[in-house]
Amino acid sequence: MSSLAGSKRIAALTAELEGLLAESLDGSAAERADTAFEWETFKRRCAAMDHHVVGSLAEVPIEELGESSLASALWTLLRISAAEANRRVKEARDLGPRSSMTGEPLEPMLRNTAAAQWRGEIGAEHVKTIRRFFKKLPGFVNHDTREAAEAQLAELACGLRPEHLRVAADHLAILLDQDGELTDADLAKRSYLTKGKQQADGTSEIRGCADPELGALFDAVLAKWAAPGMCNPDDDNPCLDGEPGQDARTRDVRTTGQRNHDALKAVLRAMLASGQLGSHKGLPVTIVISTTLKELESGTGHAVTGGGTLLPMSDVIRQASAAHHYLAVFDEHTQEPLYLGHAKRLASKAQRIVLYARDRGCTRPGCTAPGYWCEAHHDDGWAANDSPTDIDKLSLACPADNKLIEKTGWSTRKRKDGRTQWIPPPKLDWGQARVNNYHHPERYLIPDSHDEKSDDDEDDSS
Ligand SMILES: [Zn+2]
Repeated sequence: MSSLAGSKRIAALTAELEGLLAESLDGSAAERADTAFEWETFKRRCAAMDHHVVGSLAEVPIEELGESSLASALWTLLRISAAEANRRVKEARDLGPRSSMTGEPLEPMLRNTAAAQWRGEIGAEHVKTIRRFFKKLPGFVNHDTREAAEAQLAELACGLRPEHLRVAADHLAILLDQDGELTDADLAKRSYLTKGKQQADGTSEIRGCADPELGALFDAVLAKWAAPGMCNPDDDNPCLDGEPGQDARTRDVRTTGQRNHDALKAVLRAMLASGQLGSHKGLPVTIVISTTLKELESGTGHAVTGGGTLLPMSDVIRQASAAHHYLAVFDEHTQEPLYLGHAKRLASKAQRIVLYARDRGCTRPGCTAPGYWCEAHHDDGWAANDSPTDIDKLSLACPADNKLIEKTGWSTRKRKDGRTQWIPPPKLDWGQARVNNYHHPERYLIPDSHDEKSDDDEDDSS
């Protein structure tokens, strides 16, 4: 099917859907239930079309899409989240058609699951459970056992609700886990630690699964630092060394979870202060904080770190004396840096702090990479190095997007208000956003007074 033929069929489907939506779905209870069931089956079959679409995009050289990866092509093109784009790419790999090195068609990796999805007998929740099962399956499980498990789970999924399939899959995993010894690679596959997005109340969820070694390290650290009376933020002088006195222990009303949290915070703070973490992109590993003079003086509002976390101003001020953070203070209106704590003698370091503080993250529209992950990109197209350069010509870009500029002809330039515009090469220009407001969410809520089109015109005529 050429993509033109594909478009025609989608247009025909859309026309059918419009007819269906205009149709009254009345009838007996049994007839209405039938319609609900048939519609669900149809929607489930559409997932097979997702794999078809992703597979067809995967055949195009990625530069021709003007992107750094298939997933980023999907999230830009379809305006879906990065998590959803990654899921679609991986699911198409597991459930979509494949071909051998010589181009011969191969069955999908999870072939029974794919077949059940194609028939519309299983939905997204079933597929998620089966894929999760195989992600966690230990390396010692042999090929035949894997195949048998896949066939069994796919068959079960056709008759069970997702919750029930999950219980069955968990049980099968336990049975298979007992047949051998987990290798280091199996443990590595299962261990992870993630910090979630910051919530409206300022907290972020940390989740994880520790391998035995990290578990043991945690135990040792928590035994000391999370003991009752240690590192208690309610104390005027929290005990950080030695044994907490009886008084401090009695005063401590924190839960175990709270004490673990405060212990980890104290350990990380001590690590940063020790200076033993080396440097990261030219700066000692530390927290870079930016704020405006107005907020600093009023002691209210929030500062922003190079990792994109909002920090209440009261915390910044409270920590200022003890901490080894870098602090950048900006004028509220002109965005001019007024003060650079710690590093003002070194131009390249100062630049990096200002970049963190001003751009906060990758400036490419749609990119969510925070400042700490980014490199300085020179808007004139030169590689930014450590020699002092006019800060007005630098923008933050993550490594993947920096490559995009080198390889696929994207360019950047500064708007008059200091925001970086990303200009696609003409053949890849389908009217994408030019500036990234992700790291400055306050900008989403106010109209952009800097009309991008007229900005282009001004630049073109100059
Ligand atoms: Zn980026």
